[in-house]
Amino acid sequence: MAARLAEEWFAICGGCEVTILDIGEPLLDVLKQVEIVHMPVLMDHKLFGQTGEGTEMEIPAADVGLISGGIRSEEHKKLAQEMRKKCKILISLGSCACFGGIPALANQFSTQELLEKVYRDSVTTEKNGIPNEQIPALTDRVYAVHEVVPVDAYLPGCPTTPEMVAGALVALLEGKPLPVLPTKSVCDECPTKREKKAVSTLKRRLEAPDFVPGAPLSEMRCLMEQGILCLGPATRAGCGGSDGNPRCIRAYMPCEGCFGPMSDKANPMVDMMGALSSIGLDPKQIPDRAATFNRFAGAGRLRPLPRR
Ligand code: SF4
Ligand code: SF4
Ligand code: SF4
Repeated sequence: MAARLAEEWFAICGGCEVTILDIGEPLLDVLKQVEIVHMPVLMDHKLFGQTGEGTEMEIPAADVGLISGGIRSEEHKKLAQEMRKKCKILISLGSCACFGGIPALANQFSTQELLEKVYRDSVTTEKNGIPNEQIPALTDRVYAVHEVVPVDAYLPGCPTTPEMVAGALVALLEGKPLPVLPTKSVCDECPTKREKKAVSTLKRRLEAPDFVPGAPLSEMRCLMEQGILCLGPATRAGCGGSDGNPRCIRAYMPCEGCFGPMSDKANPMVDMMGALSSIGLDPKQIPDRAATFNRFAGAGRLRPLPRR
């Protein structure tokens, strides 16, 4: 009998749903064994019944539930609770669901400040009222899914990788344990050359590193030692494809931290300050350190800043 799959999306961009399609041909084998019972991006399932006759939002029962996106409204909270109630196994799909992701950068501001900025204070906005009718109330901040309901597994990344989604779905279909996330850092899997000393101060973000196109990555100097801010030291490994090389480094780009911190207790700010100092770079050159070092992990870590 096919496994029943439900998927919901909250505060997202949709990239993690595209990653499911990016699984490519192996997805065809997975789909033969799966019955999708709820997936707003694919099918119009009415939460309050086909004719709106229901009084509570309902999702069909499923063996596996995937949630992408962090929780930003009271409606998301209720849907997360309904997904938890109806799904035997619940998985956070992507960094927005796992740690708030990019939307959680907004946690540096109160909800009122955000509403004022978007609907009243921005230079291109006509100063009208703040909408408050027939829309779900916002929560006080962006929450990761596991801050609201218990989650069984995490597939981080912005977006997460097709290999991880396929690996998790195949494991579940075969009744095997879900793959465990690595506990090492992106630097631990990075093949670039390191000499433990920066050759330059931190560069502007858009400057390109020195590399020889087509040459093995092991011949390129570590990007941070080249003066390019790279969050590899404070980011969980696991984004590499079949060659194991981190996804961005393979494209000669620095790690932006999308796999999140190496553990719940890790403090990316402290880890990055230590990594920068250890090669002679001054972390104080980075003006917005809390947001920069928690770019994808603001749900439990960023709070409104004192205003001057
Ligand atoms: S984790 Fe990234 S790709 Fe996935 S929904 Fe969030 S912003 Fe989009
Ligand atoms: S700082 Fe970046 S470039 Fe340097 S080793 Fe770590 S991941 Fe690789
Ligand atoms: S290198 Fe860093 S930013 Fe790039 S995919 Fe891997 S974890 Fe994400």
